[in-house]
Amino acid sequence: MTAFDLGRELNACRKAGLYRHRRVIDSAQGVALTVDGQRVINFCSNDYLGLANDSAVVAAFNAGASQYGVGSGSAHLVCGHSRVHHQLEDALADFTGRDRAVLFSTGYMANIGCISALVGAGDRVFEDRLNHASLLDGARLSGARFKRYRHGDIEQLQCFLAASSGAKKLVVTDGVFSMDGDLAPLPELVRATQASEAWLMVDDAHGLGVLGAQGRGVVEHHKLSQEDVPVLIGTLGKSFGTAGAFVAGSEALVETIIQKARSYIYTTALPPALAAATLASLQLLVSDDWRREKLRERIQQFRSGARQLGLPVTDSETAIQPLLVGDSHQAMRLSDALLTEAIWVSAIRPPTVPLGSARLRVTFSALHEAHHVDRLLCVLDKAWSQLS
Ligand SMILES: *Cc1c(COP(=O)(O)O)cnc(C)c1O
Repeated sequence: MTAFDLGRELNACRKAGLYRHRRVIDSAQGVALTVDGQRVINFCSNDYLGLANDSAVVAAFNAGASQYGVGSGSAHLVCGHSRVHHQLEDALADFTGRDRAVLFSTGYMANIGCISALVGAGDRVFEDRLNHASLLDGARLSGARFKRYRHGDIEQLQCFLAASSGAKKLVVTDGVFSMDGDLAPLPELVRATQASEAWLMVDDAHGLGVLGAQGRGVVEHHKLSQEDVPVLIGTLGKSFGTAGAFVAGSEALVETIIQKARSYIYTTALPPALAAATLASLQLLVSDDWRREKLRERIQQFRSGARQLGLPVTDSETAIQPLLVGDSHQAMRLSDALLTEAIWVSAIRPPTVPLGSARLRVTFSALHEAHHVDRLLCVLDKAWSQLS
């Protein structure tokens, strides 16, 4: 047996119910998808506002490609930073009420780049246990000493902060937890960080577009300032319906990122056409309150319906509505059973979620109609009763 017995490792993964495979989509993103040849109703996308295939966003993308071509040619610091990237950064700074913003090619890269640019050996990073993988990886990569506090446990965080002697202390949290849909206790986190001269970094991948007045996210929802939350991360692949990410904050923060974040410096800039498309989607995200209202109606419809059926809904009020299953095999069986009824809800298993907390992650979009949710509830009811 060789050291690289990948087949054996893959088999172990299969046996544990953790094997993942990709389903192939033959349609544009939306509520109705063609998946492996089958028409299904989609309940697992992060395109919460239905902008990924919006005609105005697509038109802006096409116009951007006509004007700028497809490739950006190089990194932002060489010759890849075009006017439309710059305009989008200004617009995102304005939208989030911050001095400046800087674009990244993905949220994953924004998080690893930002944390590593801010802290290093001799510093400390504290993270919520349920933070997104990119935030955890960013802390590991930074070389700072890294501790995780129990989910939402401010007291434990305060103990960690009080006991730490590092030079710089950075507290990092999801704004809306990506697999649970609950909100971070931001006002308490602000108090805890300010009391110990730490900085707070919030990744609002799932709050922007959905929460707060005009979709300004979880920071706006809690009426917090740039001083309260010095580092804000936004991703563009979710509510914005495009791709990429940004870091927003003070002039000095953004300049630090530009000078030091390796996942910013050493990578090709996003295609300018994507920035053009994102400018269009930002306009719709701000102006189309009906999308947020409709999304809220569908979420409420689902929650009250699921409660009546005795399904294990959580306290989440956001577009992310997990149904806890526990066992990974069972979560997969449920997801497969739903798919045979043309309802697509993905099963989320470890290591994306803690061991023993596999779940169905149901997500909603402003494009779902009431009858879609009715159908989901009906199919869920049947699949759940066959499980037990
Ligand atoms: C999706 C997500 C990311 C990663 O963003 P990408 O642009 O998809 O790389 C980062 N943080 C959170 C909380 C996310 O949900």
